[in-house]
Amino acid sequence: MQRCAIKECINDTVEGSYCTEHATAFENIEFNFKKWKKAYGEAFSYEEYLQNLTNTPKVGRNIVDVAQQLIENQST
Ligand SMILES: [Zn+2]
Repeated sequence: MQRCAIKECINDTVEGSYCTEHATAFENIEFNFKKWKKAYGEAFSYEEYLQNLTNTPKVGRNIVDVAQQLIENQST
C-alpha cells in the first residue's frame, strides 16, 4: 500500500494514486470539467479550471486538495 498522492492526506491508496475520498474528488473534477467545457467551450484550459476550483469558496476540501496537486503536477 502506498500513501495517497495528496501530501496532507494520511490515507492509503486504493487504486491509482489517490485514496477513496480523493479518488472521488478527482472523478468529480473530471466530470465537472466536461460540463464546464460544454458551457464555456475552449475559453478555459484545464489548468485555468483547476485554478478556479481552488479559488471558489464553496468547493469541498478534498476537491481543492486534488486540484492543487494537479496544478503542481502540471507545472513540473
Ligand atoms: Zn487522500
